[in-house]
Amino acid sequence: MDKIESLLTLDEIHRRIIDVAGKLNEFYQGEELVLVMVMKGAIFLTVDLMRQLNMPCQLECIKASSYGRLGTRKGELKISGIEELDLLSKNVLLIDDIFDTGETLSQILYQLQEQQPKTLRSLVLLKKQLGQSSTFFPDHVLFEIGDQFVVGYGLDYKERYRELPGVYSLIEGDV
Ligand code: 5GP
Ligand code: MG
Repeated sequence: MDKIESLLTLDEIHRRIIDVAGKLNEFYQGEELVLVMVMKGAIFLTVDLMRQLNMPCQLECIKASSYGRLGTRKGELKISGIEELDLLSKNVLLIDDIFDTGETLSQILYQLQEQQPKTLRSLVLLKKQLGQSSTFFPDHVLFEIGDQFVVGYGLDYKERYRELPGVYSLIEGDV
């Protein structure tokens, strides 16, 4: 059995989402916005955020995976779905679950930029504080956390725990 410990409650997450949505509503006032969600981890964040936005929104999704069946060990980064998007001259907000080394987000942003959007910004639920070596940071970070593996609110460990309402720290069982 894995041991998990509560880190952020659903209430805390929703309060931050309302905060950040207020800033986005101001920033994109009078404009249309394309939300590009990184599946699967950003699913709950995206729907909860989208319901707080008041500009016309389009929703698109791409897929990125680096952990997969490996659990907490990183494998090869795979990104798919970008080629099907049409972002020329659009306001684009990329939404991902967590920023660790920044490799995933920087590779996705690089590929999105090639479609020449009008604006391109990024938002993440969590940022690990150790990701300081990165040369760039997401435009919006809902919470900073320490160096630990987290699950819940869309985040998985070997495809489990996504359904947990809040964010939890995973203390591995017999791995
Ligand atoms: P990066 O490329 O920034 O090092 O890693 C980001 C990706 O790794 C995230 O999109 C996420 O899918 C995965 N990841 C990083 N840390 C964690 C974690 O603590 N828990 C889970 N479930 N996924 C993580
Ligand atoms: Mg991810």
